[in-house]
Amino acid sequence: MALFGRRDAKPDPAGERGEFPLPPRKAWCGCCAKDQSLTKVWRRNGMMRRCPCCGLEFEKPAELYARVQPVCPKCDEPLEQPGFDYGFCDGCGSKYELSEGAKPGLMPNLAQRRERDQHGKSRSVL
Ligand SMILES: [Zn+2]
Ligand SMILES: [Zn+2]
Repeated sequence: MALFGRRDAKPDPAGERGEFPLPPRKAWCGCCAKDQSLTKVWRRNGMMRRCPCCGLEFEKPAELYARVQPVCPKCDEPLEQPGFDYGFCDGCGSKYELSEGAKPGLMPNLAQRRERDQHGKSRSVL
């Protein structure tokens, strides 16, 4: 079920964004509730300087990265951390932080953040 489809609508200059492509792998997807393959996997190389969600340019990324989980100050997008691996679930398009020997950590996209926030207020929405 490709709810979000592929993410190749936007131009994606990987080099400029500090992404280091890695081979596809399998990982547990909590949204699909099963092991899924992740075809697009990469390792972050340096801090993000621009939000991949809303496009905000970070004037002082180091200040954002001083937090345990850095997020975009405008839209709350979780930012990728240098030296960590990330990938998109082929099944649902969710983005995960992949660490060796641990469950992948969901990096909620805008729709997922909205859903999460709504659930915080009223559980009957779903
Ligand atoms: Zn943003
Ligand atoms: Zn999934």
